[in-house]
Amino acid sequence: MRLPLRPTVPHRCFNHPDRPALAICVDCRKPLCQGCSTLWEGIHCCVDCLAKRRATAGERSGGLRLVFLTVATLALLAVATILRSWIGAALAEVL
Ligand SMILES: [Zn+2]
Ligand SMILES: [Zn+2]
Repeated sequence: MRLPLRPTVPHRCFNHPDRPALAICVDCRKPLCQGCSTLWEGIHCCVDCLAKRRATAGERSGGLRLVFLTVATLALLAVATILRSWIGAALAEVL
């Protein structure tokens, strides 16, 4: 009896038993064929886990947008303050 080299790696796609598995989903460890595996940010994912990862990534970018908006508002306030004092100084010079 010959032992397989990689006994933990299944050789058939989880969704397509007739297709050879070329990758394993990093999240759920399902064997995936070329059609089922998606390379996302350098890792192989099945469709289900890809959707979950995309939702998480969307939340992350939403948080970043909030930070950006806060910084932009603060910057605008700073510019307005500087402008007001500058205009005030210019007016004091004129009067
Ligand atoms: Zn998966
Ligand atoms: Zn497949």
